[in-house]
Amino acid sequence: MEDIGIVAVGGYNEMGRNMTAVVVGEDIIILDMGIRLDRVQIHEDAEIDRMHSLELIDMGAIPDDTIMRDVNGTVRAIVCTHGHLDHIGAIPKLAHRYNAPIISTPYTTALIRQQIDEEKKFKVNNPLIALKAGGTYEITEDISVEFISIPHSIVDSVIAVIHTPYGSVMYACDFKLDRAPTLGESPDFDVLKKIGQDGVLAMITETTNSARSGKTPSETIAKEMLRDVLLGTEESHVGMIVTTFASHIARLNAIIEIAEEMGRIPVFMGRSMEKYLLAAHDLGYITLPDDVEIYGQRKDVDKALKKIMEDGKEKYLPVVTGHQGEPGSILVRISNGETPFKVESGDRIIFSANIIPSPMTRANRYALETKLKMRGARIYDDVHVSGHAYREDHWEMLRMVQPTHVIPAHGDLAMHSAYIEMAEDAGYVLGETVHLLRNGEILFLEP
Ligand SMILES: [Zn+2]
Repeated sequence: MEDIGIVAVGGYNEMGRNMTAVVVGEDIIILDMGIRLDRVQIHEDAEIDRMHSLELIDMGAIPDDTIMRDVNGTVRAIVCTHGHLDHIGAIPKLAHRYNAPIISTPYTTALIRQQIDEEKKFKVNNPLIALKAGGTYEITEDISVEFISIPHSIVDSVIAVIHTPYGSVMYACDFKLDRAPTLGESPDFDVLKKIGQDGVLAMITETTNSARSGKTPSETIAKEMLRDVLLGTEESHVGMIVTTFASHIARLNAIIEIAEEMGRIPVFMGRSMEKYLLAAHDLGYITLPDDVEIYGQRKDVDKALKKIMEDGKEKYLPVVTGHQGEPGSILVRISNGETPFKVESGDRIIFSANIIPSPMTRANRYALETKLKMRGARIYDDVHVSGHAYREDHWEMLRMVQPTHVIPAHGDLAMHSAYIEMAEDAGYVLGETVHLLRNGEILFLEP
């Protein structure tokens, strides 16, 4: 029986470079085409936008899709679930090899368009199709994709359900079951249950936080943590800088609201801040108050920092890039004394982010914090909650959908193992109904 199969192309052995292919008879649907940036960053002189796909594959930075040559069938669509780079970052390098449209939600589509525009090596002419969450698109006569809105750490994220004559394949990468999101809607549990009742042949699921016990705290908690740090102080006049994920629009929106409560002007700085924030504003995902300032270019950022020093730090709330200590980011330049902003004793630096647990980011972050502290900064760390489901959220999702087969994806072996143990508790059997796939493997399913 080789009518429907799952190809693990990338993201099964690691965090990043996600790519899966679903084979349905003679047709193939690709899910996500992501990049793994830490594999690029170890090479100091790497300029991604000029690099060739094969070079990036050799570096382990993008999925090795050369294995697709051995898979029978024609690619009919490339479906991306959200705008994080580990889901869309390889599109400029790989999509042109397939004569197929790229289907994603409007915000994700806007980010994909920017990615393609920045590419200097390849011409990517695939049609871009913006499909709203809740919508369904007919890919072929008997295959369609349905987008189900789901909370995650970037707006307009969806679970993709591929409906086929053999049953549906649900691709849940990435998600959290947040019942009180601060932007966007909570999961539509009725729709998820309905799809489960109709019969899901296979669920491909992210496993990032499957080893963490309990359930992921709601984004509302992160907002209250931020409010407590920024407003709950007797030293409300000092300089404060927030750094967070530029793509986390809900978090940026919370910071804007809290800045208003503080009577400070929110000032967003950095190219990525400008990119994600303006795209979200243009498409109507957030409204920006009149006094919000946004600066992308380095010279504009430095001018704004100079103005903040002159007018008084207590009037502004700068929101900057650099939470992982990325070289060249604004916070790193501030820590090096390379901007007009001078950190003084008692100034506060608020990290509304976790530390990505790779040795390189740990080292970068250590250097950044140490330099800031030497200038007198007070550090507020981990004012953050995750955008990925914890173990008991996975348990709920699995029991709600009741897929015949479940396939852990989007994580390393330890993450998959934790997921598989949970799935075994729910009655699944390793090798029969819960499957461990490695990059490059293909699994044919018994409908
Ligand atoms: Zn994500």
